[in-house]
Amino acid sequence: MPEVPLERKMFVDTIRKFARNELELVADEIDATGEFPVNLYRRLGALGFLGLRLPAEYGGFMDGSPDSVAVMMCVEEIAKASAGFALSVGASITLFAANVARNGNEEQRAAYLPGIASGEKIGCWGLTEPDAGSDALGIKTRAVRAEGGWLLNGRKTFITNAPIADHFIIIARTGGEPGRIDGGTAFILDRGADGLSTGKPLDKMGMRCSPTGEIFLDNVFVPDSRVLGKPGNGFFDMMASLDFERSVAGAINVAIAQRCLEICLEYSKTRTQFGKPISKFQLVQEKIARMHRDIELARTYIIHVLEMIDSGRLVTAQAGIAKWFATEMGTQAALDAIQILGGYGYCREYKVERYMRDAKLLEIGAGTNEINKLLIAKVLLGA
Ligand SMILES: Cc1cc2nc3c(=O)[nH]c(=O)nc-3n(C[C@H](O)[C@H](O)[C@H](O)COP(=O)(O)OP(=O)(O)OC[C@H]3O[C@@H](n4cnc5c(N)ncnc54)[C@H](O)[C@@H]3O)c2cc1C
Repeated sequence: MPEVPLERKMFVDTIRKFARNELELVADEIDATGEFPVNLYRRLGALGFLGLRLPAEYGGFMDGSPDSVAVMMCVEEIAKASAGFALSVGASITLFAANVARNGNEEQRAAYLPGIASGEKIGCWGLTEPDAGSDALGIKTRAVRAEGGWLLNGRKTFITNAPIADHFIIIARTGGEPGRIDGGTAFILDRGADGLSTGKPLDKMGMRCSPTGEIFLDNVFVPDSRVLGKPGNGFFDMMASLDFERSVAGAINVAIAQRCLEICLEYSKTRTQFGKPISKFQLVQEKIARMHRDIELARTYIIHVLEMIDSGRLVTAQAGIAKWFATEMGTQAALDAIQILGGYGYCREYKVERYMRDAKLLEIGAGTNEINKLLIAKVLLGA
């Protein structure tokens, strides 16, 4: 049974305590080793966080409309301690489980959601391929009809959690031509399926405790019962889920910026140069004021976008704005924090260099910021 009540404030407090008392203690170590702390993922399951956006009848906590702002606040708490851990948790519960909850039938929900909600199972979502990143509709992974199901062939790369996942959503073409939005289909696969294998975790600059890797599909048979949503609808379903994911990506960098600001406030009051604390220098103050301004703007706007999502609106442009602004802001805040800490900021001990390495990813993942700019322009121009 969950250890926490659903009420938002108490719930966020619980996750904050978990992040500070358990995750923070290992954050530097898992960054150095690249190990995903599965035990802490399971703890989040026991605390109820992994089921926050999943229906109650499948082990989750959502008995009414989703409270995306509560999810965002929890993600912020987790990301302040370890953005890499937040990224992997997000991929499992958002990219995998929320898609099963949204597009799956009852049998699929019953088969997959309780395991994610409890923390026993880890999920991932595979779209990107070696030759199809921004050009997502250019994927070459194909699924062809076989008796009672489909045969999948292809290769995915850069997939968060692929090296450790129990379950995989794979987007493949079942029709249409590269570049067309029709003809994509989502499939649910389980580790152990014949012909499915995964590569070693990629050696990344940041988000190091979040294992990212390749998925190889060699004549993998997937029964009809594991087609997620309507065949041919995969790309449309994907578009519908991206608004939330982009907003949460922004929230991770808001958390990084907030933590960097906290570190700078403390450090600048105690570091003395020219006979006074560096916080007395106006060039340092400007950086601090700018960080605070941008965190406030990004955070308020993300909450606004999430409330629109919860009210059932499609917010492609707004989610793109949230992600673009918040992710750039997070990287800049981490760079400014390194500058304020000077040589100490460049050393691992003070953590801001880790935040900088982690923040950069969110300008690339979930659609690069360039692609987000194009999406915003497309909405405005009606193109
Ligand atoms: C750590 C990590 C985790 C990830 N997790 C997942 C995951 O869980 N699932 C998944 O499916 N994918 C995942 N991705 C993949 C991610 O979504 C892609 O990396 C991203 O979409 C960009 O694709 P690409 O890397 O191939 O870059 P490219 O598409 O090759 O882009 C290279 C550069 O060209 C620019 N560019 C491309 N096209 C245009 C254009 N039309 N106009 C202007 N500029 C353009 C891009 O903005 C970028 O700057 C992950 C990536 C990383 C690094």
